[in-house]
Amino acid sequence: MTGQAQEAAEAARSRLQRVGLRATRPRVLVYSLLRQVGGHRSVDEIVGLLEERGNTVPRMSAYNVVADLAAAGLLLCADVGPGSALYEASDTWHHHFICRVCGTVADIPCVRGEKPCLEPPASFRGTVDEAQVIFRGICESCIRPLSRES
Ligand SMILES: [Zn+2]
Ligand SMILES: [Zn+2]
Repeated sequence: MTGQAQEAAEAARSRLQRVGLRATRPRVLVYSLLRQVGGHRSVDEIVGLLEERGNTVPRMSAYNVVADLAAAGLLLCADVGPGSALYEASDTWHHHFICRVCGTVADIPCVRGEKPCLEPPASFRGTVDEAQVIFRGICESCIRPLSRES
């Protein structure tokens, strides 16, 4: 591990412990990776990026890790659509925009900044603790070439 990676692992370890999670090797690897690389990553991408860095984590255990970390509030999970969940290290609740042309995923600040920011209609009898909003449309860089053509 490089000095930078070691520092990131150390920071990840203490964050995990602060939220009451045991700092197991796969948890430390996944969380420190996401903090370092940033962005929105699928489990396959996470496993691949770790592999590139010489850290093998089985896919099943990566799935368990992201679920645990998301439940503990260390990761945000964005359901971006059919069968695709993306994870990111973020401490701020927010929503996502997905471009229909290039598939880019961008953060959209949440107007309330905490969950749940949308209330179900009064007829709903259950409880709601989270409302994810996915905005879909065309991103700025895809709009420009489109309007130049016309
Ligand atoms: Zn786009
Ligand atoms: Zn995000």
